[in-house]
Amino acid sequence: MADAPSKIVDPTKLTAAGRKAVLSQAYSDVWAEIMHLKVDGRTWDLNQRAYLRDVYRDNAQRIVCRKSAQMGFTVAFLVKTLHRVLLWKWNGLYLLPTKVGVVPFVQGRFNPIIDENALIKERFANLDSVTHKRTGTNNLYFRGSTVATDLREIPVDFEIWDERDKMASSNLHLALTRMDGSPHKHLATLSTPTAENWGVDAEYKDSDKREWTIRCLYCNHAQFLDWHLNVEIGDTESIDLCKETTHVRCQKCKKPWTHGQIMEMAEEGFWDPQEPGRDIHGYYINQLVSPTRSIAELAEIWYKGEIRGDVDASRELWNSALGLPWAAPGDRLTPEVIDQAREQNYRMPTISGVTMGTPISIGVDVGKHLHVFVLSGSGDLPRRVVDVRIEDWNTLRNIFNDLNERNIYWTCVMDAAPEKAMAESIAREFVGNLWLAYYHDPKNMNTMAAWSPADPYSGKSYNSVRIARTMAIDTAHGMISRKRMTFPNNARHLVNPGKDYGDMYAQLIAQTAVTVPDRMGNPRRVYVHPDGKPDHFDHALTYATVASTLTPAIRSAPENLRFEDNPEGRSILDEVGGLFTQDDEGTVFDGFFD
Ligand SMILES: [Zn+2]
Repeated sequence: MADAPSKIVDPTKLTAAGRKAVLSQAYSDVWAEIMHLKVDGRTWDLNQRAYLRDVYRDNAQRIVCRKSAQMGFTVAFLVKTLHRVLLWKWNGLYLLPTKVGVVPFVQGRFNPIIDENALIKERFANLDSVTHKRTGTNNLYFRGSTVATDLREIPVDFEIWDERDKMASSNLHLALTRMDGSPHKHLATLSTPTAENWGVDAEYKDSDKREWTIRCLYCNHAQFLDWHLNVEIGDTESIDLCKETTHVRCQKCKKPWTHGQIMEMAEEGFWDPQEPGRDIHGYYINQLVSPTRSIAELAEIWYKGEIRGDVDASRELWNSALGLPWAAPGDRLTPEVIDQAREQNYRMPTISGVTMGTPISIGVDVGKHLHVFVLSGSGDLPRRVVDVRIEDWNTLRNIFNDLNERNIYWTCVMDAAPEKAMAESIAREFVGNLWLAYYHDPKNMNTMAAWSPADPYSGKSYNSVRIARTMAIDTAHGMISRKRMTFPNNARHLVNPGKDYGDMYAQLIAQTAVTVPDRMGNPRRVYVHPDGKPDHFDHALTYATVASTLTPAIRSAPENLRFEDNPEGRSILDEVGGLFTQDDEGTVFDGFFD
């Protein structure tokens, strides 16, 4: 028996409602409108948020939103999530930074959308737990990025990563593999940015970089509202005057705009891709076109940050309000910070020019090449950069032998990985001077380095040191910014000089500290560096800094040091006892690398 022919629908004869119903299959904003969705306590609409229409309608496989806060992107992706699960029958994962953040997010933002709509609520009737929702055979999961085991056993077709820069990066690859079995594999990441060229900022820069562009009502010039180009800072005599006199104006004709005028222009705005044709769709907009933010409010934050030096205010302005990467002083070295630590009349010697009796500390970052950083100075004395070089194993061994022959007091901290066998062999050879370094980032370690000397009785044949990574990098950078470590005046041109500076500068400024949650969701400061940007010299510098804490303090200027001042200087192991420490669990680090 043949099936009865289905009724043929002529698409040209659809009613207006019918057309909308068809459109709603593709476009989540049309669906939200005809469903009369209630979001955050009011009926959903795009009033004053015209910029979101294309975001709702963008069905590209890969979307990235480098967003400023309070612009409606999270709502857009919650609606898109519902739309994909209910209409496309896809399985989804909505990923948040922390596990502890999931419950309040789902109960506060997502569940009300369902609860306010009888049709949707009925669809989720069978299973509606906080972190797992099911309609028919389709699943929607809410998870935090911090717990890897929570990311198992949840095959999905699409993922939303909300506040990507606050996520535990180490688990994001695992999250991605949840889509391995799907033919769709749609991923959207949204975040206020943190560090430059990292996280959402790096992803945005790989995208087609769409900027919300508006036309001046006076001169018709199309422009993206940029803080530096569109904001004229007023009187900075006081915060109130600054708020009153700062305004937004046209980049071209310079005529000031009121907030109402900006809102009108933004209604007719459009997304202008800076790199058209790229596969990843990237969106960037800032609070200069926010319906809820006035320029007076932004001027107030700017004043607190720039005039009063309030770092949190600056972070709020650049990251949250303007959607731009920004690093606080202390989160990252800059060429200018290194510049101010240069000594006018000091040109760098090489390690062979180091005079006898000058205690030196050497850091070696091991990779394809060996990046070597050499400091003089110890104890409370300032450190001075006396050599920076890239070497191979043989040359490095020759340098060490030469130092020993010349009776130079030296300490070296060297990467234990990735050339473990080679590093261990050289560490055995120079057991009086050389320590193999292991990074870790403990919760409660209050010592930068835990030294574990070789011990013939237990068979440990080389020295090792466990280094608290964030603390050590902070210490090294802090010494530069406080001029407790000085550079030669030709520092900018060291190692492959470039247009502005050489490789040493480039690598010292590559890392930025960001705050991400630890496994328990507590904030934790870690250094990250953008993919593909080397940071070898920054680690070599850090190792050299750690090495210099082991050198006994000698109370005279480093350039005048002689061994006679410190007859016991070479017995490093005698110095070690006082530097032993305990880890979180109270274990003494006395041979933990067996
Ligand atoms: Zn104009």
